[in-house]
Amino acid sequence: MNIYDLTKDELKNYFTSIGEKSFRADQVFKNLYKTVNIDDMTDLSKSLRERLKSDFTQYIPQIERKLTSKKDFVVKYLFKMDDGEYAEGVVMGYKHGLSMCISTQVGCRMGCKFCASTLNGLKRNLTAGEITGQILAALKDLESRISNIVLMGSGEPFDNYENVLKFIQNATHPDGLGIGARHITVSTCGLTDGIYRLSKEGLPINLSISLHAPNDGLRKQIMPVANAVAIDDLIKAANDYYTTTGRRVTYEYSLIKGVNDSENEARQLVRLLKNTGSHINLIPVNEVKEREYKTSVNTREFQKILTENGINATVRRTLGQDINASCGQLRNQYERGG
Ligand code: SAH
Repeated sequence: MNIYDLTKDELKNYFTSIGEKSFRADQVFKNLYKTVNIDDMTDLSKSLRERLKSDFTQYIPQIERKLTSKKDFVVKYLFKMDDGEYAEGVVMGYKHGLSMCISTQVGCRMGCKFCASTLNGLKRNLTAGEITGQILAALKDLESRISNIVLMGSGEPFDNYENVLKFIQNATHPDGLGIGARHITVSTCGLTDGIYRLSKEGLPINLSISLHAPNDGLRKQIMPVANAVAIDDLIKAANDYYTTTGRRVTYEYSLIKGVNDSENEARQLVRLLKNTGSHINLIPVNEVKEREYKTSVNTREFQKILTENGINATVRRTLGQDINASCGQLRNQYERGG
């Protein structure tokens, strides 16, 4: 097992189980997140280091490819896991610091029609250590602080709940990555069980919901998950999340030409989200080679209808288009041998 898959409590249990004092977990945990190799953890005896190495691997994903945008501060990574699977992560520079988008699964089984990550289905879940490891690898590579994390890369976080939660515990731990829960965002296509569950963890994590349609009929056409979860139930779960955690929910709405970008859809969206206190992120859909969807030309008009009706809506800047920065695209290209 990869030692990065353990939470600090699990590491403590491990040390007590082998007859060591639990403070060893404090030492080792701190060092792990400074990416110190077990061999170099000189505050441990040689024999304890050997014991750790025989019980665990210490694997940080390898950077298989790195693409740097010429236009924006965007660095895209293709990471290789120890079984040869790939996952993508992107670091983006904003005024307030670096933000990293990471993957939670290899592939995805949600089947959204516009998305590149789900084209070949789900390969497997990423472990907690592989989710954290994407950040550790980027930190080592860039040698600068990453202040925000978004779980918006490939995969559906709530389809891999346990590992995602362990990742969040290690990311927010002051001796771990030390990133505050308020600086971490989990994005879901709408698995309500996961939303309710996360709301009860006592962590002020930001929640983002990929909505992309204002009614069930249209949503079912572009997101198969809508066959299992009705929009009203999704909004209810999101409102509950806000009441329970005090964190406002953001809705993601990718504007697709002729599909979900008419005035009619904007007005339906207003009715749906009025008085929820939520924010809408409008995203010009990123055209994926294998998909027929085209970017909307109505973005500003759509936004205007929302804001004029009291809904907070911003248009997301598109970054890194010259390097296919959207998740899923690089892995697909790579696996085809491109
Ligand atoms: N499964 C999670 C997280 C991964 S998808 C979720 O659905 O939220 C991250 C975001 O990227 C989602 O809002 C998703 O709908 C969006 N997305 C996927 N493909 C896209 C594309 N081609 N253009 C624009 N946004 C896309």
